[in-house]
Amino acid sequence: MKIAVIGAGAAGLAALRHCISGTYGDQVVCYEKTDQIGGTWVYREQTGFDRYGLLIHTSMYKSLRANLPKEVMGYPDFLIPEGPVSYPMRTQILDFLNTYCDHFKLRPYIRLLHHVELVEPVARDRKWSVKVKDLQNDAVAIESFDAVMVCNGHYFEPMIPNVPGQNIFTGKQIHSHDYRVPDFFNGKKVVVMGAGPSGMDLALEISKNANRVILSHHLTETIDTVFPENVVQKGDVVELTEREAVFVDGTKEQIDVIFYCTGYKYSFPFLAESCGVRVDSNMVTHLWKHLVSIKNPTLALIGLPFYVCAFNMFDLQVRFVLRHWHGERQFPAQADMLCSEAEETARRAERGLQKKHFHMMGPEQEHYYSDLANVAGITPLPPVLSKLHNESSMRFLKDLVHFREDRYKIIDDYNFVKLSC
Ligand code: FAD
Repeated sequence: MKIAVIGAGAAGLAALRHCISGTYGDQVVCYEKTDQIGGTWVYREQTGFDRYGLLIHTSMYKSLRANLPKEVMGYPDFLIPEGPVSYPMRTQILDFLNTYCDHFKLRPYIRLLHHVELVEPVARDRKWSVKVKDLQNDAVAIESFDAVMVCNGHYFEPMIPNVPGQNIFTGKQIHSHDYRVPDFFNGKKVVVMGAGPSGMDLALEISKNANRVILSHHLTETIDTVFPENVVQKGDVVELTEREAVFVDGTKEQIDVIFYCTGYKYSFPFLAESCGVRVDSNMVTHLWKHLVSIKNPTLALIGLPFYVCAFNMFDLQVRFVLRHWHGERQFPAQADMLCSEAEETARRAERGLQKKHFHMMGPEQEHYYSDLANVAGITPLPPVLSKLHNESSMRFLKDLVHFREDRYKIIDDYNFVKLSC
């Protein structure tokens, strides 16, 4: 098969590796719009738009250390090597991805600085037309493929909630996508909006610089973790005035910055409408197993589920898709795939989950992984991965300040001193 892979982050690299492996030996081209592999793990000081007028993709901040242990973060048969810390620094993950890329000799298949602008099914010959711009030469080409794996990530298009008064607030407003270093918050009074992993991590990080941090969220209970003294928790911001935030309990605070840690939108700007993929309240439809386009099964979207063992899951999803594309497993009838999606939607709604939580796994991840492995008849992921993931997520919630600590003290990105126990 001739396959296009869009994006050379952790998902795109896994796709490429399995496509070119001896098992299938597909003909593959991986298009990457930036000048490096690694996707969101590539740290860039710059925010906004790049020199080609494209939105800066990465949301990585300078101090970032993974919120999962390395045992969870590697690929199934390519692990993150033993090192002095359990929770790797961002630089270690990027090095790891480069090592993976070299080990499996993937670079010759990657076209850097190639931006995919449009993907369309061609009904006539059941192929895909992919329109790509070579950014260096400003040249556009259209290539034909049998199948497409979309690996463009889902942490690049900020989700910013509508808050009455947002337009008259005279302080600063920033989304975590554009956050790099904490200096911006020196001496400021800040509302951090959202208490997901980023909101919690960043509230803690900026508390060293900010004067006061108000972590605003709509969780029914306060988060049971110990924050520094200058961090308080409050309910939702219901209104902004020129200088104040008004909270749901009627209290007001004078503030300098609103820091939106409110997540991201799934976005596939290059998929033509005829691809049959829609984003509805941040639920991507119509997909079989959060992965395969039901309308056009030779289109796969790798990496949508969140709160998962990401790189491991990418590898599993890719192997699942390839088994089907190569006819070793048959896709169910379209009606059956739609039915399975509808059943899962109903099950999740019964549990009180909104559409935006449709791709959330967390405690369900083990079931998802074993289902993929069983259906495709492929090597499953070891269940211990899900256990470790769930366990470390609990540690994160319970002890935000210390959950990564081990017997080592970090001096900078690459240097550690061992502490006596
Ligand atoms: P990305 O890494 O986003 O890669 C997508 C690639 O596609 C990019 O290189 C992009 O340039 C390219 N691309 C996009 N559009 C186009 C186009 N039109 N044409 C060509 N190329 C295109 N996960 C963990 O497991 N542990 C963590 O601790 C963790 N921390 C995180 C912290 C932050 C701040 C963020 C943002 C994410 C974190 N994640 C973490 C999740 C992380 O996103 C995944 O681990 C994983 O790296 C996602 O890989 P990806 O390949 O799906 O997407």
